Amino acid sequence: MASNYVKDLLAEVKAKNPAEPEFHQAVTEVLESLDPVLQRRPEYRKNRIVERVLEPERVFMFRVPWLDDQGNVQVNRGFRIQMNSAIGPYKGGLRFHPSVNLGILKFLAFEQVFKNSLTTLPMGGGKGGSDFDPKGKSDNEVMKFCQSFMSELFRHIGPNTDVPAGDIGVGGREIGFLFGQYKRLRNEFTGVLTGKGLGWGGSLVRPEATGYGNTYFAAEMLKTRNETLAGKTCLVSGSGNVAQYTVQKITQLGGRAATLSDSGGYIYDEKGIDAEKLAFIMELKNLRRGRIKEYADKFKGVVYTPIDPKLDYNPLWNHTAHCAFPSATQNEINAKDAQNLVKNGVYVVSEGANMPTTLEGVNVFLEHKILYGPGKAANAGGVATSGLEMSQNSLRLSWTREEVDERLHGIMQAIHKAAWETSIEFGCKGNYVNGANIAGFLKVADAMMDQGLV
Ligand code: NDP
Repeated sequence: MASNYVKDLLAEVKAKNPAEPEFHQAVTEVLESLDPVLQRRPEYRKNRIVERVLEPERVFMFRVPWLDDQGNVQVNRGFRIQMNSAIGPYKGGLRFHPSVNLGILKFLAFEQVFKNSLTTLPMGGGKGGSDFDPKGKSDNEVMKFCQSFMSELFRHIGPNTDVPAGDIGVGGREIGFLFGQYKRLRNEFTGVLTGKGLGWGGSLVRPEATGYGNTYFAAEMLKTRNETLAGKTCLVSGSGNVAQYTVQKITQLGGRAATLSDSGGYIYDEKGIDAEKLAFIMELKNLRRGRIKEYADKFKGVVYTPIDPKLDYNPLWNHTAHCAFPSATQNEINAKDAQNLVKNGVYVVSEGANMPTTLEGVNVFLEHKILYGPGKAANAGGVATSGLEMSQNSLRLSWTREEVDERLHGIMQAIHKAAWETSIEFGCKGNYVNGANIAGFLKVADAMMDQGLV
């Protein structure tokens, strides 16, 4: 049961930020975890550290006008949330998706603060994006949009201030257009964005990092039970950047990924998505920008199931398996999905997506004491490697693939260790939700204490 202090804080967050249910959800999970810390460390309460962490340092919201290929004027809304800079410049992705709004970006920016703290690297938390939908747009339209978006954003970011990256709908193509416009406006070639192309400041292994990192995290969780991913059947959702490299690493570690999805539906491939089939997916999604259904047309024995909005559960999570890697979007696993997963033998859930499980779903995992790695720990490999890209840009050097992968692996092991040991210290061994929230918070809170009332 939450203390009265935490209950009052939650009530205030809801009253002050109405119509932001995702932000309320993320805050509820974190504050409930922090209760024991706030009782042990009264100085945090006295200095109102939590109240300050809940309030973004700055929010920008701006008009993004652009001309489509038919010469029509289009108008979108752009955002950047600069949430917390106690331990480094703001860092966090840009999301382009029609569902984007202030509340969704605030939940993502809030999560990002703790995630970045866990990476061991000096990065504050931020997030941004637009309700622009890149789906079905020509390259020219995407470029025009990105240029208009950056024409406002460039004033607020910089390599020592705020360093955005990709997220849903923002991949290598979009980062290229955004970087080009920033460079043109500032007349400066700097590491202001991460996820850049390899020939112009990008880091090896950045595209792979979130998916690889999440798989390393799952392997670390399995290690606590003296197990590995070899021979494990895995359910993966999404088919974008995170999902693709999750499948690749699962396969490399001897597991078998059986599913992938997009917003139209999902495929189930009993034989497993091997390297050759994954190459098809990458071409389909990254170049042709087609739908996952085509995978079922291409390969024999694959079942495609379209989304059925009438269902109150997602059939993707209702297959016999050992592990699940949700890698599409927020709240894609509800309580019923969580129950289906547990019922079907899944005992490892490692979150590639941000907040893919509802609060009720998380409680199902915790009650069953499965190995549950929350997104802010399990998917931190992406931003960690962005941090490594920033280091390489500052050094004006490029590390080898092996060097970056080794650092990524080491960081994921360190995050796992921090979450695991903190869960023990606070009397909830194996509860990675509490472990990650508390470990991430302490570093930020202590930095805020050191820096005075700002
Ligand atoms: P991509 O845009 O590359 O892929 C997103 C995938 O998820 C697509 O298959 C997309 O399908 C599907 N998807 C997105 N929104 C929805 C929705 N509302 N309903 C159903 N399916 C949906 O994004 P990423 O792979 O980069 O990101 C996936 C998740 O991982 C996000 O939660 C993101 O925040 C998180 N993440 C990403 C990091 C990164 O480095 N990229 C780092 C850490 C976390 P469709 O194409 O049909 O929309």
